Amino acid sequence: MSTNLKSTTYDAVVIGAGFSGLYMLHKLRGLGMSAVVFEAADDVGGTWYLNRYPGCRCDVESMHYSYSFDEELEQEWEWTEKYPAQPEIHAYLSHVADRHDLRKDIVLNTRVTSAHYDEGSGRWAVTTDSGETVDAQFVISAVGCLSTPKAPEIPGLDDFAGDWYHTGEWPEEKVDFTGKRVGIIGTGSSGIQVIPEVAKEAAHLTVFQRTPNYTIPTFNGPIDQELVADVKKNYREIRQMAKESGFGVPLPPPEKSALEVDPEERYAYYSKMWARGSVTSVLTAYTDLLVDQEANDTAAHFVHDRIREIVEDPEVAETLCPKDYPFGTKRPTMGTDYYETFNRDNVTLVDLRKDPLERITADGLKTEQGEWEFDVLILATGFDAMTGPLLAMDIRGRAGQPLAEKWKDGPHTYLGLSVAGFPNLFTITGPGSPSVLSNMPVAIEQHVDWIGDLLAYMREHGQSTAEADQQSEEEWTQLVAEYANATLHMKANSWYLGANVPGKPRVFMVYTGGVGVYRETCDEIAEAGYKGFELSA
Ligand code: NAP
Repeated sequence: MSTNLKSTTYDAVVIGAGFSGLYMLHKLRGLGMSAVVFEAADDVGGTWYLNRYPGCRCDVESMHYSYSFDEELEQEWEWTEKYPAQPEIHAYLSHVADRHDLRKDIVLNTRVTSAHYDEGSGRWAVTTDSGETVDAQFVISAVGCLSTPKAPEIPGLDDFAGDWYHTGEWPEEKVDFTGKRVGIIGTGSSGIQVIPEVAKEAAHLTVFQRTPNYTIPTFNGPIDQELVADVKKNYREIRQMAKESGFGVPLPPPEKSALEVDPEERYAYYSKMWARGSVTSVLTAYTDLLVDQEANDTAAHFVHDRIREIVEDPEVAETLCPKDYPFGTKRPTMGTDYYETFNRDNVTLVDLRKDPLERITADGLKTEQGEWEFDVLILATGFDAMTGPLLAMDIRGRAGQPLAEKWKDGPHTYLGLSVAGFPNLFTITGPGSPSVLSNMPVAIEQHVDWIGDLLAYMREHGQSTAEADQQSEEEWTQLVAEYANATLHMKANSWYLGANVPGKPRVFMVYTGGVGVYRETCDEIAEAGYKGFELSA
C-alpha cells in the first residue's frame, strides 16, 4: 500500500485535487465521511498547477475567482492583481490545502486508471497507476473540464529535433526563449496569453493561426485597494449576485437588445464595456448577443474595429479578425498586448487557412507553401474538453457497461452531475452542467454543496445508493441540446461541441440556461426529495 494511503476502504474516492477536489474533500470531512483524493500531478492545484506557461492568468477577476465557503479566508487573502496570474492562484490553492489540513488525505503522483461498480456489494473498485485498488461507496470526479491536453492532429511531432512544450503541461522550471526561433500553433485562450510573453524574449516568434479569436484586453494591473475594501465589506451580497447570474460573475443582467438602441449609443456602450477590461462585460452588454446573429454582428464589428485600430499592417489586422463564427460562440479570450504583439518586428503571423499545416519536421513545420525552422515549438492546441478526462479512465457501471460505450454518441447525464447506470458516481462540473460557461469556482461550489446535501439526505433517510433514472437523464440531455440549439453556439466549431477533436461526437456539452437558473433547478429537485434519482438502501 502506498505510504499516503491509510486504508483500502473509504466512504468516498475523489479524483483530482484542484478547485473541485479540495473543496469536495473538505465537504466530505464535514459530513464525517472517510475520503481519499487521488491526484496525478505532484502537487495540488489541478489546472492551475499544470498550466504554468508564461502569461498564464485567469480571465475572471481575482476577487470573484475564489472560494466563498471560507469567509475568514475571503477576508484574509490578499490578491495582488486585478486578474490573478497562475502562480498566485496556485499559491492560493496550496494555502487552502494547508489551512484545512487537506494534504494528509491527498495521494499525489497517482492517476486513477479505472473505477468499476460492483452490483453485488453496491461499491466501487477504484484502481490507480501505482497498481493499488481501493473500495468506496461513492466516486466523485473532480477531474476538471480542460485537463486532457490535445496535440495537433498533424504527423511528425516525434521527428522534431528541438524542444517542444504543450501549454497544458508546461514544465515547472523556466523555459528560456532568449535568442531562440520559436513557432507556436494555436490562438485560443492559452496561445493568446503566451504569445506576447514569448515575443518579448525570443529572437523570432512565428504564430500559426487556424482560427482567429475575439480578444478583449484585460487592462490588468495591481488590484485597486478601494475595490478590495468594498468587495470585502459586501462579499455576501456580491457572492449571492454571482450565484444568481448568467455566467457566475456578479454583473447585473442586461436589459436591452443590441438592436433596440441606436448605433451611436451602442458603440459608446461597447466602448465603455471594452474599457472595463472584462470579456463578460462585453458579452453581457445586451440581451441578445448570443441568440441573434444581427445583434451579435454589432459586437463582432466593434471588435474588428479595435483590431484594425491596434494592428499597424492592414493585412495582418484582417487575418486577425474573426469573421466566420459569431462573437462569444468559441470561448472569447482575454489578452494583454495580444494584438499589439503583431506590430513587433520579431513576430510573424501565418494564416493556416491560406497555407495549411502539413507536418512537423525535424527542423520545424512544413506548410503547403513553405518550410519553417525553429529551435522551440509551442503547442497551444487545447484539450479534449469535458468528456476527455472522464473517458481517459476506464469507468464501468452496472453490468460492467463502460462509460465510453454509454457516451459513444455524446455525454448523457442528469444535471451534468450523475449518470444513469452509474450509481453513486458524481461528476463535479460534468458535461450537461454550466461548468465552463460559469466562473468555475461558483459552479464548483454549487455542485459540491449539492452533492454534500444529497449525501447528508441519504444518510438521514437510511439510503446508500443514488442513481439518476433513465428518463430524467434523457429529458435533461435533450433540454441541454434544446437550449444550445436556441443560441448561436452551434455556428462555431468549438471545443464546447467537441469539434476540436477528430471523431468526437458533435454534441454541445454545456448547459446554456445560465448559472442562476441551473441552481434553482437543482434546488427544486433536491426539495422534491431528489426527483429524478432513485434512492435506495
Ligand atoms: P483552445 O481554445 O482549444 O485553442 C486551441 C488552438 O489551437 C485553436 O486556435 C485551434 O485552432 C488551434 N489548433 C488546434 N489544433 C490545431 C491544428 N491541428 N492545426 C492548427 N491549429 C490547431 O485551447 P486553449 O487555448 O488551451 O484554451 C482552452 C480553454 O481553456 C479556453 O477556452 C478556456 O476555457 C481555458 N483557458 C482559460 C484561460 C483563462 O482563464 N484566461 C487561459 C487558458 C485556457 P481552431 O480554433 O481552428 O481549432
